[in-house]
Amino acid sequence: MNQSANRPSVGAAVETPPPARPRPPSVERLLTHDRAAAPLAAYGRTAVTEAIRAELDAIRSGRAEMAPETVILARAETRLDAEQRISLRPVLNLTGTVLHTNLGRALLPPEAARAVAAVMTGASNLEFDLERGERGERDSHVEALVQRLTGAEAAVVVNNNAAAVLLVLNALAMRKEVIVSRGELVEIGGSFRVPDVMARAGCRLREVGTTNRTHLADYAEAIGPRTGLVMKVHPSNYAIHGFTAEADEADLGRLCRERGIPFAVDLGSGNLIDFAAYGLPPEPTVQAALANADLVTFSGDKLLGAVQCGIVAGRRDLIDRVRKNPLKRALRVDKMTYAALEATLRLYLHPETLRERLPTLRLLTRPEAEIRAQGERLLPGVSERLAGQAAISVEPCTSQIGSGALPVETLPSACLAFHPPADERRAGAWLKRLAARLRAMPVPVIGRVSDGALRLDLRTLENEAVFLAQIDALAGSASTSREET
Ligand SMILES: *Cc1c(COP(=O)(O)O)cnc(C)c1O
Repeated sequence: MNQSANRPSVGAAVETPPPARPRPPSVERLLTHDRAAAPLAAYGRTAVTEAIRAELDAIRSGRAEMAPETVILARAETRLDAEQRISLRPVLNLTGTVLHTNLGRALLPPEAARAVAAVMTGASNLEFDLERGERGERDSHVEALVQRLTGAEAAVVVNNNAAAVLLVLNALAMRKEVIVSRGELVEIGGSFRVPDVMARAGCRLREVGTTNRTHLADYAEAIGPRTGLVMKVHPSNYAIHGFTAEADEADLGRLCRERGIPFAVDLGSGNLIDFAAYGLPPEPTVQAALANADLVTFSGDKLLGAVQCGIVAGRRDLIDRVRKNPLKRALRVDKMTYAALEATLRLYLHPETLRERLPTLRLLTRPEAEIRAQGERLLPGVSERLAGQAAISVEPCTSQIGSGALPVETLPSACLAFHPPADERRAGAWLKRLAARLRAMPVPVIGRVSDGALRLDLRTLENEAVFLAQIDALAGSASTSREET
């Protein structure tokens, strides 16, 4: 501040003081402005007042420029829109991984969504036996279906397959030994490690065999008075090749029956159908595992194609012990899960329409030629909308099943490949920017970058109208994003 301006001016002062900084309007004044009516109607007085205060604070502290009232109100509205946007929302998964754990795994069929909607806003018979008018059992809504579809005597449902494994271990082998092959002490999905889960369940791990080879005799020698359970873990997300051996499940089942030790198989995927019959790589079924094992644990939202949950199926006496375990109460699932699971399992009773009605199976079995044809059909429209911004073509690619199922098998597919324009010198930065812009669309579009292009695998694209609307929005956002960079 300049000295003379501070001096009290006495008539003849030549200098005029600098113009006072305009004072921001009051909160009250802004609240009664016409421009405030819409945000007030949408978000209410409390939230709008807070947003206006935040904007005025920003101006007073110099973090934002002073601006006309309409501009301050527009800023407050933008702030509210961002704050109040739902965090968990739909995206387009065009990564090529059909069961993508980070993108919500299996897509539920509409029948499941309707069943959930039907029970979620009102009371239901979740634990109420309508025939007898007394307390019922929540697993009853799906137990008969699991029995019928898998041949199991009984079943319980918990929060996910990790919980199912934890519960089985704790219920059948607390303070006892659990025999597992060294080749199966795996980590699944980052935080599910078989040895850690076992320790948390209060079991002692008894490793047998070696990483690549485990024989029936290894199990036979390890079984003793302290053994509570023999467990086999399906190698969902990895494969060991070369000089390998594992004990046959039928032999292991027989050995355990002879010694009176329960035998559990952690299957992971929860496949109930003959994959080969659908032209897919073979994948073990729950039914086949139950032919040898006393209990099988599997996920609800992997190949089964339903909602997140874990199912334990098998011998009734063992399931009774599992159900009576106090952990079951802590790991139990909500009515919405039962509703979605029941409705999805019912689709399996009608195998003739399963491929069409179960989204996971429908997407996995889409023929390559059909996906390529979809790409050729979409290409002209997408290219036209993004003319000059990217060089787009339809190219072959491979999809994955995901969620650990069949880790080495891929499915031939086709993608829209977005290559940088010929004059683009920083291709890597261009690809990153395009990926970020696609993620910023109203329905975020998630692809993958490989071999110098951003690729959108069309295997999982069913809603073309939503996709094209995002491409339209992307085209509209193009000019600004070019200037920014
Ligand atoms: C996926 C998987 C799990 C974990 O299942 P969640 O449902 O993700 O908890 C456990 N075991 C195996 C073999 C799996 O494939």
